[in-house]
Amino acid sequence: MAADCIFCKIAAGELPSEIVYSDDQVVAFKDIRPVAPVHILIIPRKHIPDLTAITEEDRELLGHIHLVAVEIARQMGLSERGFRIVNNCKEEGGQVVYHLHFHLLGGRQLRILG
Ligand code: 5GP
Ligand code: ZN
Repeated sequence: MAADCIFCKIAAGELPSEIVYSDDQVVAFKDIRPVAPVHILIIPRKHIPDLTAITEEDRELLGHIHLVAVEIARQMGLSERGFRIVNNCKEEGGQVVYHLHFHLLGGRQLRILG
């Protein structure tokens, strides 16, 4: 756990959030400022600052995150309609919180870049 990381604190239950899924590797919770009817953030419990910091060791974890994303999408009724998974990487990618996370977006027609 990284000091002063809000997503580490959410994963540890030290900050409130609306958790929709949790296991020993991953936590998923509702984005505080949703941009779509479904807007879930899926994070590893492990503190990884951004996508460029992944290593070979994280291969299984990244696959697991995607399996969890699809399962949540299914539970939210999106698996037939479709959805989007987004990772914003570093400053020009629009990353604001430096704990790796994937946005699961859906429930409305999404455009090419939003
Ligand atoms: P980024 O731009 O880093 O990919 O996205 C960070 C996301 O985290 C934003 O969509 C923002 O609304 C969300 N967020 C920031 N702080 C909190 C928080 O304390 N709780 C929750 N649930 N979401 C947060
Ligand atoms: Zn963290």
